[in-house]
Amino acid sequence: MTSTFTPDTDVVVVGAGFAGLYALHKLRDKMKMTVRTFEAGADVGGTWFWNRYPGARCDIESVHYSYSFDEDLQQEWQWSEKFAGQPEILRYLEHVADRFDLRKDITFNTRVISVHWNDDESLWDVTTDSGEVVRSRFFISGAGNLSVPKTPEFGGIENFEGTVLMTGNWPQDGFDFTDKRVAVIGAGASGIQAIPLIAERAAHLTVFQRTPNFATPLGNGPIDPDEVSRIKSKYPQVRDAARNHFLGVPFDQIQPSALTVDAEERRRTFDERWNAGGFRLFIDSYQDILFDKDANDTIAEYIRDRIRERVADPVVAEKLAPKGYAYGTKRPPLETNYYEAYNRDTVTLIDVKDTPVRAITETGVQVGDDVHEADVIVLATGFDAMTGPLMAMDIRGRYGQRLADSWSGGPRTYLGLMVHDFPNLFLITGPQSPSVLYNMPLAIEDHVDFATEAISYLCQQGLDVIEPRLHAQDQWVATTNDIASQTLLPQTNSWYMGANIPGKPRACMVYLAGAPAYREACEDVVARGYAGFALERANNRALTASS
Ligand code: FAD
Ligand code: NAP
Repeated sequence: MTSTFTPDTDVVVVGAGFAGLYALHKLRDKMKMTVRTFEAGADVGGTWFWNRYPGARCDIESVHYSYSFDEDLQQEWQWSEKFAGQPEILRYLEHVADRFDLRKDITFNTRVISVHWNDDESLWDVTTDSGEVVRSRFFISGAGNLSVPKTPEFGGIENFEGTVLMTGNWPQDGFDFTDKRVAVIGAGASGIQAIPLIAERAAHLTVFQRTPNFATPLGNGPIDPDEVSRIKSKYPQVRDAARNHFLGVPFDQIQPSALTVDAEERRRTFDERWNAGGFRLFIDSYQDILFDKDANDTIAEYIRDRIRERVADPVVAEKLAPKGYAYGTKRPPLETNYYEAYNRDTVTLIDVKDTPVRAITETGVQVGDDVHEADVIVLATGFDAMTGPLMAMDIRGRYGQRLADSWSGGPRTYLGLMVHDFPNLFLITGPQSPSVLYNMPLAIEDHVDFATEAISYLCQQGLDVIEPRLHAQDQWVATTNDIASQTLLPQTNSWYMGANIPGKPRACMVYLAGAPAYREACEDVVARGYAGFALERANNRALTASS
C-alpha cells in the first residue's frame, strides 16, 4: 500500500448543527469510524448558534423539533416552552454535545473551503481555511440549508455610520435597542419574530417590507407538564406518527377539501386551527390548499381578515395583508404580537415593492429619493437557501467537475442525498428531499441514517465507492419537478424556488410528496440493493479504513 492512498480519516463531516452532531455521533460511536468534523462557528448549534436575534424560536413544537435517536436523551431533556426560544435550543444542542462527548472531534472556527474528489485514489481532498488538507473516503455535508445569509441587492452598507446587524449572524452578546432609531429590512419569518421585540425597546422602528407574509399565531406558552408526560410515556409511537405525517409532526385532523364544506363549517375549522396555533392552520386544516387555487383563496381571505382585525390603521392593514400569491407557497411565518407592533406610534411601515431600497447611506436607508435615518439597520433579508452552503465549499467531483457547473440550471440530485459524478458525497437534507418542509431534526436523522447505512453496506460488501447513476438522478429530478408542478408553489417567488436570489436558477428545491412517500422511496431503493446507485471498488484498491 502506498502512503498516498491512505486516507487521513474515514469521514469528513461539515457543520456542528443538528446534522453534523448526529452524523459524528453515529459514525464515531455506533460505527467505530474515524471522523473529522469542521465547523465555521466557535461552538455547536448551527442555526441556533448564529440566529440569536430577539424572538428567534422554532415553529414546530419542541417535543417534536428535537432528536429522536436516543430514548434516554428524549426522556431526560425538559423543554420549558411549547416552542423553545433560541437560547434553550442552543442549550439543548450543547447538552447533546456534552452527553456524547462530541466537541473533542470537532474543529471549530474552521471553514471548509474546497472539497475535491481525487479520481485516482478515490478519496476526497478537503481543504480548510486554516490550510489543513484532510484526505477522506466519505464526505458528509451537514452545512445546513439556511446558513449562508443573502447578500442584499442594494449597496452602500459599508458607508453606514451606525450599526448593521444580520439576523442570520447576530452578535454573540446580543444588542440593546433601547432608545435607538432602528430600520428592519425584510419581513419574512426572521423579521416577523424580531420586529415586535425590537419595537418594545426602540425609540423608533421603521420596517421596510417588500412582500407581506401570511403570518399566523404561534400560540406559544409554558409547556404543559401533563402533555409532556403523555408524550414521554409513548415517545417512540409519537415519533412514528410524526414520521408518517407530511410535515413530520403527529397531526391528525386534516380534512380533504376546503371546497366541499359550507362557509360556516370552513370558518369553524379555520378558527379552531388558528386558535390552536403553530402549523395546525397550514398543515392540519384542508388537504387541497396547496394544490387548488380556489381552496387556497378561502384560507388566504380568512387570514387577510384576521390581519385587518388586528391592525388599527386600515391603510397599514392593507399593506400588511398579502395579495397576489397563494398562502403556504412561501413558508408561512408564525408570530407573536407581530401585527399589534404596527399599532404603536413609534413603528412605521414602508412598502418597498414598487420603490425598492436603493442604497444604504451614511445615515440610513434610501428608498427612492428619501433617506430614512437610523442608528441601527437590521438585515432580515434571508438566505441563499439550500444550494448556497454547498456552492460556498467549491465542491469538485470526477474529472474536476464543479458542482456549481453541474447545477448551473438548478440542483440535480438522487433522493436529495447524492449527486452523479460526486461519489461518496452525502448531502444531509439536500435539495429535492422533503428537507425544509419536514420537521428538520427527523429529516436529518433519516438522511444521516441513510448515509451511514449506505457506508456500512459498502464496507460489508468489500466495496469503496457509491454514486448515483445518471438515469436514476434524471428520473428523480423529473419526479420532483412533476410533483411540484401539481402544487401552487412554483407560481410564487420564494426561496423554495431559488427566487429570492437574483440570477439563481428557478427550480423547486423541495420534494413535495411529503415525508412518508419520500421515506418509502428511500426504503425501496435500499431494499432493492441500492437501486439507482453504482457500487464499486476503488480504482486501485489500497484504501485503509478503520471500518
Ligand atoms: P445548520 O444548523 O444550518 O448548521 C450548519 C452548520 O454548518 C453551521 O453552523 C455552519 O456554520 C456550518 N458550516 C456551513 N458551511 C460550512 C463550511 N464550509 N465549513 C465549516 N462549517 C460550515 N426548521 C424546522 O424544522 N423547524 C423550525 O422551527 C426551524 N426554525 C428555524 C429558525 C431559523 C431562524 C432558521 C434560520 C432556520 C430554522 N429552521 C427550522 C431550519 C433549521 O436550519 C433546521 O431546523 C436545522 O437547525 C438545520 O440543522 P443543520 O445541522 O442541517 O444545519
Ligand atoms: P425570508 O423568508 O427569505 O425573508 C426575507 C425577507 O427579506 C423577505 O420579506 C424579503 O422580501 C425581504 N428582502 C430580501 N431582500 C430584500 C430587498 N433587497 N429589499 C427589501 N426586502 C428584501 O428569510 P428569513 O425571514 O430569514 O426566513 C428564512 C427561513 O428560515 C424561513 O422561511 C424559515 O424556514 C426559517 N425561519 C424559521 C423561523 C421560525 O419561525 N422558526 C424563523 C426564522 C426563519 P421578499 O419576500 O419580497 O423577497
